[in-house]
Amino acid sequence: MNIVLFGPPGAGKGTQAIKLSGHYNIPHISTGDILRANVRDGTELGREAKVFMDVGKLVPDEVLIGIIKSRLLGPDCSPGFLLDGYPRTIPQADALTGILEEIGKPLDVVLNIDVPDEKLVTRLSGRRMCQCGASFHVEFNSPKQDGICDACGGELYQRDDDKEEAIIQRLEVYSTQTQPLIDYYGKIGIMVTIDGIGDIDDIFADICKALE
Ligand code: ADP
Ligand code: ADP
Ligand code: ZN
Repeated sequence: MNIVLFGPPGAGKGTQAIKLSGHYNIPHISTGDILRANVRDGTELGREAKVFMDVGKLVPDEVLIGIIKSRLLGPDCSPGFLLDGYPRTIPQADALTGILEEIGKPLDVVLNIDVPDEKLVTRLSGRRMCQCGASFHVEFNSPKQDGICDACGGELYQRDDDKEEAIIQRLEVYSTQTQPLIDYYGKIGIMVTIDGIGDIDDIFADICKALE
């Protein structure tokens, strides 16, 4: 199964992706996680990307296209993949189409998790992340032990871009640069919209139903 998880920042893509990846046994490819790992490791890519990420802007397309191309060639992607946070612009989507054509793995579905803006700000400002990619929420999805990741025992942290100013910028970037992809994939007829409000497990069940 070749899947793109689509939706605004805070829609619950990462939360659902971890569950889906386990359920369908396909790798969860989060460009945000890949970039943050590079920032932590102090790579050249990380230094370049951090400037954009901290202020809530998109990292340039050519950087992301390079990352995604090499990642999709990984042998673990042969049973399929789950993209989270890519594509975010029309050029990224065009590049993805080209790469997938080249490797003979067309997209099966783009799952659009729909959550209105007013909910997103509270979700993002209360989000706590783990380096393993798991995310929690101080109120809506709190870890069993305060500040500790349920999945790996790692220490939770608040992302630099989950502060109000960067959140507002990211939502603006989403509506101008990313939202046009709803039309793009809608026209091809492979987009399914999922209501992203409600219990996390209920949303997961809706997604699984849509995939069957
Ligand atoms: P969220 O989960 O809140 O939507 P991500 O973790 O996907 O955020 O992304 C965090 C930041 O990483 C983005 O604001 C952007 O700076 C950068 N980024 C991630 N994916 C992409 C992409 N496909 N294109 C450009 N920038 C990206
Ligand atoms: P994204 O990857 O789309 O940016 P996340 O999966 O990181 O979003 O979720 C954003 C925040 O909202 C996290 O704090 C997460 O725990 C919380 N969250 C995820 N799904 C729900 C939900 N259905 N209801 C309430 N909060 C949620
Ligand atoms: Zn963890």
